[in-house]
Amino acid sequence: MIIAASLAIMHEAYSGLLAPKPIDAAWTGLAVSSAATVINIVWAGILIRQGRANKSASLVADGKHLMADVVTSIGVVVGVVLVVLTGIVQLDAAIAALVAVHVLWSGWGVLKESASGLMDQAAPPEELALIREIISVNATNAIEAHALRTRHAGRATFIDFHLVVSSKMSVGDAHEICDRIEDALRAAMSDVIVAIHVEPEGKAKHKGIVVI
Ligand SMILES: [Zn+2]
Repeated sequence: MIIAASLAIMHEAYSGLLAPKPIDAAWTGLAVSSAATVINIVWAGILIRQGRANKSASLVADGKHLMADVVTSIGVVVGVVLVVLTGIVQLDAAIAALVAVHVLWSGWGVLKESASGLMDQAAPPEELALIREIISVNATNAIEAHALRTRHAGRATFIDFHLVVSSKMSVGDAHEICDRIEDALRAAMSDVIVAIHVEPEGKAKHKGIVVI
């Protein structure tokens, strides 16, 4: 869509350069276009912020698409003002070409961002540090945790790791530790899915997350 739009603008710009047309009703058009642009800026900002907060690639893409439209309208407004003020009709076409390049560029950015959002990614370092901290603080009576893996898929964060406990510990007690860690992770982060593999000591690697 974005690519097709920018190609259409390019085409208009090119034919505008070859056969300049005088602009009619310039000021009315400008007023309407400016009002629409302000509304779009606010809306695009909301979409992008909400999309990032909810880890939704498609919402962020919608916001960026709208922002590209905004830049297009600002370009058009500037072009019309310049043409009216200077009387140089070719200016409009030149600005349209620049806008087309910008739209194409932001279209590429949206493609890249949604591709990485659709593919699973590990949690970023700050989030990983938080997860390790929560496990460490809540795993009292366990020996250590290791093999921590995280994965973002859409809004959800998948967390799995091994929890080493004494080989004498009852299943009930080990399960209680797991529940405590899961509850703490869920309380601290939204949409987490936790899987814990319990192991008897002796399997301890002594280089995992230290339990406080
Ligand atoms: Zn293990």
